[in-house]
Amino acid sequence: MPYDSNNIFAKILRGEIPCKKIAEDEFYLAFHDIQPCAPIHVLVIPKSAYKDVYDFNQNANPDEIIGFSKGINQVIELLNLRQDGFRLISNFGTYGGQEVPHYHVHLLGGKKLGPMLPSS
Ligand code: AMP
Repeated sequence: MPYDSNNIFAKILRGEIPCKKIAEDEFYLAFHDIQPCAPIHVLVIPKSAYKDVYDFNQNANPDEIIGFSKGINQVIELLNLRQDGFRLISNFGTYGGQEVPHYHVHLLGGKKLGPMLPSS
């Protein structure tokens, strides 16, 4: 399936809909999740059009990969997440439950997050 340029994060990148921006540079944009699951719940997305983590890791060029990784670290620093810790998640596909088909990572923190998944 090709990248869908009508997805909501593509619209945010084009400035067609607003976001609560935290930081950006030429490689990444970080903003607050609209439905936070923790006191800190930030999404970090690459500026380029990749569907998911696999697509990004497979097809992004080294500058994009390094720029995105450094961007995550910039957000970690900005929000002072290193001291108390955080969780970094990227959902993929049906089992992972990815809803928005533009690659993103969730940065979660601000409290002890507990087990990685609810036990079932
Ligand atoms: P995922 O299930 O990994 O694709 O996560 C998508 C995330 O995007 C969810 O946590 C949503 O709450 C979040 N989201 C959807 N629309 C927006 C938006 N307009 N601004 C910020 N976050 C959003």
